[in-house]
Amino acid sequence: MSRLQPVRGTRDLLPDEARRHRLVEDVAWRVARLYGFGEIATPIFEFTEVFARTLGDTSDIVTKEMYTFNDRGGDSLTLRPENTAGVARAFISNGLQQSLPLKLFYRGPMFRYERPQKGRLRQFHQVGVELLGVEAARADVEVIALAAQVLADLGLGGRVTLELNSLGDAESRAAYRETLVAYLETRHAELSEDSRARLRRNPLRVLDSKDEGDRAVVAEAPLLSDSLNDSSRAFLDDLLNGLETAGVAYVLNPRLVRGLDYYCHTAFEFTSTDLGAQGTVLAGGRYDELITQMGGPPTPGIGWAAGVERLAMLAEGLADADRPVAVIPVGAAAEPEALRTAQRLRGRGVAVDLGYSGNLKKRLKRANAVNAGTAVMLGEDELARGVATLRDLDAGTQTEVALTELDTFLAAGRA
Ligand code: ATP
Ligand code: MG
Repeated sequence: MSRLQPVRGTRDLLPDEARRHRLVEDVAWRVARLYGFGEIATPIFEFTEVFARTLGDTSDIVTKEMYTFNDRGGDSLTLRPENTAGVARAFISNGLQQSLPLKLFYRGPMFRYERPQKGRLRQFHQVGVELLGVEAARADVEVIALAAQVLADLGLGGRVTLELNSLGDAESRAAYRETLVAYLETRHAELSEDSRARLRRNPLRVLDSKDEGDRAVVAEAPLLSDSLNDSSRAFLDDLLNGLETAGVAYVLNPRLVRGLDYYCHTAFEFTSTDLGAQGTVLAGGRYDELITQMGGPPTPGIGWAAGVERLAMLAEGLADADRPVAVIPVGAAAEPEALRTAQRLRGRGVAVDLGYSGNLKKRLKRANAVNAGTAVMLGEDELARGVATLRDLDAGTQTEVALTELDTFLAAGRA
């Protein structure tokens, strides 16, 4: 029987939770459209190379989190652990460089072999955006403002903080790399096994380590911001000025680095203190080298991804705009009229829950269980008079409405 359990780290989304996920996605998609983004959907699996070549071979994702398998034709495939690499691959495969700048939104499941815990799953869901083809910090401003509005529209404005850092351009990072390696060598004995390996191959990744010993060493490391060259500094100034103009509040965090190798200049995270250890709800950055690295034409990019599970948890109280109307026949003779009424209302776009059986009390209980806002009660006596009784299920008040006016009344949302 244990095989009839969901696989560790995966979950069934039952209607209530599926509804909250959908609300999060819908808000993100609606706001993305306000900023002129279109939707893209790339396949859930790609050739393993798409991820291995781009995420960097020292990243957590590539070293230990990918679901990789050989298909029956012998190709090595990987379930997507994130979607930036897939979007970049799609950009190249479809020859989209003619249509730059491109503004793309995506949503869907991602897969990482991680230790499952609250807010950390093996199949989880993201919404995200990518803006390709704009070198200027204006693009970063817009993409970050979009993220801020998604969170604000989810009612999380006051509960998240935007943390921001600059990773600089390649020259600045090379300079910093030397400074950092020199420092880390002096603390070599205190570093974890993983970080010693990173020290040789990609020392910046040590900054992102979750190991406690490493974190103590990192806390005293020299800052990347002290190694930024003039043009990287100017880029950061443009970004900060733009955010101020757009009214987006931020906190500079000079220790912030992102786990993946392809980032440059802007790195940011929106974090919440309400989720325990899994406090990052949305994260992103600029990736000007990514598409070149994959063999495509030089194309700058900036984007972010947000965890739908974490957002759905935070936005627990999200109201569903679409509460159904419960149509309740009282007595067998009212059944046909109840069905007719339900069909008419549905035809006019009103969501209707039609009780299937039971007395009035049982059906009212059911109406509450499906979160109906209004019950339309149809009794024989009322039908004879051509009226229905409307009960406001929140207030408990009742009114009579003529059957001929019922549709207009409910469709107008006045009930
Ligand atoms: P973390 O530091 O929490 O591992 P990450 O840097 O690996 O995050 P990203 O790759 O930036 O995360 O993914 C963007 C967002 O996707 C995260 O901020 C988080 O909200 C969500 N996310 C990432 N991994 C998971 C997971 N295993 N389960 C649920 N949500 C996740
Ligand atoms: Mg991770």
